[in-house]
Amino acid sequence: CGIVGYIGNKNCVPILIEGLKRLEYRGYDSAGIGLINSNGCKLIKEKGKVSDLEKLVYTDNISANLGIGHTRWATHGEPSMINAHPHVNKEKTLFVIHNGIIENYLSLKKGLIEEGYEFVSETDTEVLAHLIDHYLKLKNSLFNAVRYALNEVEGTYGIAVIYKNESDKIIVAKKGSPLVIGIGDKENFIASDVNALITHTRQVVYLEDGEIAEVHADCFKTKTIQDEEIIKEINQVEIGI
Ligand code: GLU
Repeated sequence: CGIVGYIGNKNCVPILIEGLKRLEYRGYDSAGIGLINSNGCKLIKEKGKVSDLEKLVYTDNISANLGIGHTRWATHGEPSMINAHPHVNKEKTLFVIHNGIIENYLSLKKGLIEEGYEFVSETDTEVLAHLIDHYLKLKNSLFNAVRYALNEVEGTYGIAVIYKNESDKIIVAKKGSPLVIGIGDKENFIASDVNALITHTRQVVYLEDGEIAEVHADCFKTKTIQDEEIIKEINQVEIGI
């Protein structure tokens, strides 16, 4: 339902929590964040309100310069802590958040189970985490692993992905669900809705369906999921939104 993300040199935890609160008006049943810092990865999820997640996050006293957050509106699998996003690979080094519906998730899931992947949630989204992991294990970059996975997907998505072994980037992509990049000064933001990042920047890039972006702290690149280069314009959001 709602997506936020940050890469830069600030602590992203309050930025993610504040961004998720700005998306609360859309409705949701659970929320979670995935963080990567020099000590490793941290996954915090909770059923219920962002304020409940916030309590867990702040008792942990963790800080990170890279993170993504999600509010979920369940379509596949009941609202629960396990079904909340981010979804992860077995090593818990890859975090995926997703808005939308993976229509062919059952056939993708079957193939991944045959390959030895184990599923812990009932969501359609979890196939993305294992499918991207599958392509990473074939020695692809994170960008290409996400791209190859999305080429197998039928349905709708706005996604954000982060990975411990490539912790200088967030990968985002979209088809049928909104996704924007917010351009800051040596920091960048991603969100499903400009409302989540408007307090940080008014310079935004709107992804179109079938586009994927690699977002670093100080630059970003965009392609189609078929690997064609595309140049995106930066838009100025008018004050008052
Ligand atoms: N289909 C996914 C799920 O049920 C994503 C739902 C959403 O857009 O929040 O977990």
